[in-house]
Amino acid sequence: MTTDEFRKHAHELVEWMASYMENAGRYPVKSQVKPGEIFSRLPSSPPMEPESFEKLMKDMEEIIMPGITHWQSPDFYAYFPANTSPPSVLGEMITATLGAQCMNWETSPAAAELEEKIMIWLRDLIGLPGSFEGVIQDSASTATLAALITAREKATAFTVNEEGINPGRTLRVYCSSQAHSSVEKGVRISGIGRRNLVKIPVRDDLSMDPDRLAAAIGEDKKNGYLPCCVIATVGTTGTTAVDPIRPIGEICRKNHVWLHVDAAMAGTALILPEFQWMIDGRENIDSFLFNPHKWMFTNFDCTAFFTRDADSLIRTFEILPEYLKTRTRGQVNDYRDWGIPLGRRFRALKLWSVIRSYGVNGLRDKIRAHISFAAKLKEMILKENDFELLAPVIINVVCFRYAPQGVEEEKLNLLNEKINHALNDSGKIFLTHTVINGRYTLRMVTGQTNLTLDHVERAWELIVKTARATGIGS
Ligand SMILES: *Cc1c(COP(=O)(O)O)cnc(C)c1O
Repeated sequence: MTTDEFRKHAHELVEWMASYMENAGRYPVKSQVKPGEIFSRLPSSPPMEPESFEKLMKDMEEIIMPGITHWQSPDFYAYFPANTSPPSVLGEMITATLGAQCMNWETSPAAAELEEKIMIWLRDLIGLPGSFEGVIQDSASTATLAALITAREKATAFTVNEEGINPGRTLRVYCSSQAHSSVEKGVRISGIGRRNLVKIPVRDDLSMDPDRLAAAIGEDKKNGYLPCCVIATVGTTGTTAVDPIRPIGEICRKNHVWLHVDAAMAGTALILPEFQWMIDGRENIDSFLFNPHKWMFTNFDCTAFFTRDADSLIRTFEILPEYLKTRTRGQVNDYRDWGIPLGRRFRALKLWSVIRSYGVNGLRDKIRAHISFAAKLKEMILKENDFELLAPVIINVVCFRYAPQGVEEEKLNLLNEKINHALNDSGKIFLTHTVINGRYTLRMVTGQTNLTLDHVERAWELIVKTARATGIGS
């Protein structure tokens, strides 16, 4: 492809992109294809001769688009969002065009220094203390793994990196029973072992019980284990429960245990002064993450990871082969030493573009609106006596079920599962479920970039109608 051809296709593609953004809500939200359908429509071998971009776009429309689940549809209420926005896409286009591999300062000083600056902006915006330094990681899972490995090294005086896991000193990690599965993955990969992940019971509001945490750590110490890391969640994936950071942090300090906070989705709400309570006790946090790629209108991937002990993080991950030695080492941030991969994309650009385009006030307005939609949805649910709320509405997640009188528990689970499938198969909205205390729970997240109250009201109407029709049919 010549640059002239590129210019032509790129202009056309921008039209396609803008019209997708305008029409994302017109597709079935959840892709309706069957397993293998897309695969079987693709040729079994690559073309030997050059093919035109027009042909590719034709296949894009005919083969690929039917297999897309539309995360950018305002009717997407599933999982946690993976939002994008026009300024984010523009930033991503520049990143792809420059194609810079930003592993250390010298491989693109602007990438390192913009990242350093944007992480300071974000740190201050979410209210972490000035002692924290930040770095962009690809995902929350990677950032949690980096925190676990750093905590492991700190607890063992940096000997595991040298000698491997010492089976004589069993490390222990703690999280609540509601923590994300990436915690379990992290303890497996870091060599700590799934059996040494202690799941602390939760209180009625599904947040970690700090008394049970203190007891578990005390018991472990008595039995000769080495407590190494507590992972607290601010905004659990199931219900956005918020673990109490202050008492958890005090327990961690007393026991010399690293406190990592996973605020993957809910961390964005910290840009609102009225949500700062979620990190009350912040002075005892050792590391913290949130995903601008979830709720801050920045396309995947972009995890903001902060630590007040960057020295330990770097000591854990730095490695210096001859070919990576530079003259500026020690004067600048070489971010390859701040995590697992060597190669790094220039991800600060899209964040810069998003923050400048919305402005802090624009971001705050949008986040506040999303939170108010969840509150409105809660009111709508409480008005219907055949529906019930199943968890407190704290931020932007609403957990509920259809529960007409006189139907037994077991049948309610089946009924709500049916309702969920009927809604998703309709293509009109997409929501996912969780299980709370054995109850099949419908779960709606009001966090998609383009969501309006109108969408929420229409979704609720559809849910009521579908639930009652399903109830009669079963
Ligand atoms: C989504 C989520 C994760 C995983 O995020 P990735 O960036 O996809 O790895 C981790 N923790 C919580 C609480 C989450 O909600």
